[in-house]
Amino acid sequence: MVARVIPVEDFDLVIFGGTGDLARRKIFPSLYHRFVAGQMPPEARVFGAARADIGDADFRTMIREALDEFVPDADRDPEQVKAFLGRLHFVTIDATGENGWAELAQRMRPGVIRAFYFSVGPSLFGALAERLHKHKIATPDSRIVVEKPFGRDLASAKALNATLAAHFAESQVYRIDHYLGKETVQNLMALRFGNMLFEPLWNSHYVDHIQITVAETVGVGGRGAYYDNAGAMRDMVQNHMMQLLCLIAMEPPARFDPDAVRDEKLKVIRALDPLEPHEIVRGQYAAGDEPGYREDAGDPKSRTESFIALKIHISNWRWAGTPIYLRTGKKLKSRASEIAVVFKDAPHSIFGDDAGQHRNILTIRLQPNEGMTLGVTIKEPGPGGMRLIDVPLDMTFADALGPELEEAPDAYERLIMDVIRGNQTLFMRGDEVEAAWAWTDPIIEGWEARHDVPKPYDPGSNGPEDSMMLLHRDGRRWREIKP
Ligand code: NAD
Repeated sequence: MVARVIPVEDFDLVIFGGTGDLARRKIFPSLYHRFVAGQMPPEARVFGAARADIGDADFRTMIREALDEFVPDADRDPEQVKAFLGRLHFVTIDATGENGWAELAQRMRPGVIRAFYFSVGPSLFGALAERLHKHKIATPDSRIVVEKPFGRDLASAKALNATLAAHFAESQVYRIDHYLGKETVQNLMALRFGNMLFEPLWNSHYVDHIQITVAETVGVGGRGAYYDNAGAMRDMVQNHMMQLLCLIAMEPPARFDPDAVRDEKLKVIRALDPLEPHEIVRGQYAAGDEPGYREDAGDPKSRTESFIALKIHISNWRWAGTPIYLRTGKKLKSRASEIAVVFKDAPHSIFGDDAGQHRNILTIRLQPNEGMTLGVTIKEPGPGGMRLIDVPLDMTFADALGPELEEAPDAYERLIMDVIRGNQTLFMRGDEVEAAWAWTDPIIEGWEARHDVPKPYDPGSNGPEDSMMLLHRDGRRWREIKP
């Protein structure tokens, strides 16, 4: 079976920051893949717009080099690359000045979808929005795409939302969180709302607790200075992990449409209890064979966390009494992202205490090796009486779906095409982002007020010892971090 390609309408897409790292690494390679998949209409064009004083030809050379670097050899066909580059154009533009805007206005075609990707720092969002409006480049149907980070606290997120709202309706604003574009993350919704099997059990009567882990093996390396300004809470929890939490915990929306889905996610965020200090563990990787976090960050006294574990409570009927444990960190044992739904013990073991009753655990692996496993209890084979063992009902999506999964667009490809289609389901709404910051802010302010110092942990470990204690205190344990 070949992955289905849904055609999109003709468009002009402008990438502000078109010469930047994100554009070269992600945006143009993604567009190339969609072009090869046949999803770009015959007349559709993409403009790079940045301060560089170059023309179309130089820009095409730059993007050809980016494709050489960031598109796997097997996917790069010289004829396709040439045809794709023919769709690219460049306008030298200054976001904060007047240079280039008249030219951009003049080069846009009437009657096609116009989308503007703000792949620049957030300090330029206001200037771009204002000039798109002033030069009548944006139409009432135009879309703007903005990258993370969307603010660093509630006040700055509100200010950014207000800046965009001055010129664009919320229905025109696409806040990217690439996690939401991942195949497996969307599968969470299919799993929950496309099956009868799980939903009746998806509540505190049957679920003991949930674990969400996003573990990385890399450190902050070259982006230490940027990261040190953010930390795991701002960089991962407030956005990506919050989105995973919402998809796992939300009520079934009435329809799979943007506002129905986002309304339900918002309700989850608003139902989160404030966290107490004992429900938070912060860590920093120590020096090992390689430099430690503080050296990577370039600040020997840094108090920024490269690891965080949280015990979260959702105060609503579905989840009261079922904690959600969440952890993420750098330089951990393995690279693995997964969600584990740990069901309660059977109410009574008819086989006696020695039989070894196991809990059912539904594990959804987001990466690597995407798939899901349901641990079920069966009898240990053999004559040794009724001894119970836990065996996995295991589905690796790549085995089950084969080439179709491989051909599925990656997160950026899907999300950019969703922008052209005008589908906001997988993008964060302004109120969602603000609600997430409203929950996060007091936690971060608490650390700052207490001068909280993260606990050191060994590179290649499971994080600080206190993270284990967070669950041990409740008679629970983290699942092993393994790929
Ligand atoms: P970058 O510094 O590599 O590129 C910035 C781009 O903006 C360049 O093309 C530059 O010419 C352009 N630019 C800067 N000032 C300008 C001005 N006054 N007028 C016109 N153009 C101007 O940055 P990046 O890494 O590509 O990141 C872009 C945005 O995406 C940032 O907001 C960043 O936080 C976000 N982001 C980046 C990544 C990543 O992997 N690089 C990941 C997630 C989010």
